[in-house]
Amino acid sequence: MDERLRVNPILCDAYGHCAELLPELVELDEWGYPILDDGPIPQELAGAARRAVAACPRLALRLAPLSRGDLNRGKESR
Ligand code: SF4
Repeated sequence: MDERLRVNPILCDAYGHCAELLPELVELDEWGYPILDDGPIPQELAGAARRAVAACPRLALRLAPLSRGDLNRGKESR
């Protein structure tokens, strides 16, 4: 099953550790909060994504199954 990254903005401390570990899928906004790639995590980045989730000091970053709605939104924006 495809997965995507999700962040809980209430828990996030905005220090941006995840963006350092996974710059391919995580950018930071002007306050340091992560902006996550919306799509499925590419297979070649799956290990790095799991390490970034495990390293999140606030347990704010997680992996979530990609829903049918996520996939449909991706198609609409193309
Ligand atoms: S590592 Fe976790 S707490 Fe830090 S910016 Fe990323 S999501 Fe937020």
